[in-house]
Amino acid sequence: MTDTLQIKDHIRQVPDFPKPGILFYDISTLLAHGAAWRATVDRMADIVGKMRPDKLIGIESRGFLVTAPVAYRLGCGFVMVRKKGKLPGSVIPHNYELEYGTDTVEIQSDAVKPRDRVVVLDDLLATGGTMRAAIELLRKVGAEVLGAAFVIELDFLGGRNRLDVPVSSIVHYD
Ligand code: IMP
Repeated sequence: MTDTLQIKDHIRQVPDFPKPGILFYDISTLLAHGAAWRATVDRMADIVGKMRPDKLIGIESRGFLVTAPVAYRLGCGFVMVRKKGKLPGSVIPHNYELEYGTDTVEIQSDAVKPRDRVVVLDDLLATGGTMRAAIELLRKVGAEVLGAAFVIELDFLGGRNRLDVPVSSIVHYD
């Protein structure tokens, strides 16, 4: 069994991406390592399964990579939250504030029913703005948000303090 330390060993840190001065935590190397990725999905499934969700929500785009295999393992539905204009058919939008300006996330109108029990997943928690917007959108459609789960959490940014649901992460950087 690959433990947390070994999972962390497969996450690559790329300086100056996507802009100078930013250190990017890259899960490509984790995805490319079969045993480490399987251990990651298994750990996420253990954490998320305990919340007994009906559906798992993945946030575009690396969140999809995490959410789909966990949903498969738990036998849950998988629903996408995407940036504006990417989902076909009738959608429900939610606008949210960025540091400079605003952005919009969307969900398909029939994807989640009122009172569905959902857990939201993403690859990484930084400031918490993205997850917060997804949770607000899910509440708008009447879902019961049981928690948020991440592979990576950047503890030094305090993102979990912006979220009013239980937060779980496998790998922490402090
Ligand atoms: P937040 O909204 O500041 O918490 O940023 C989290 C979102 O940005 C997630 O959807 C991540 O996929 C993405 N993100 C931010 N920083 C990184 C990083 O270093 N590596 C991978 N994704 C990141």
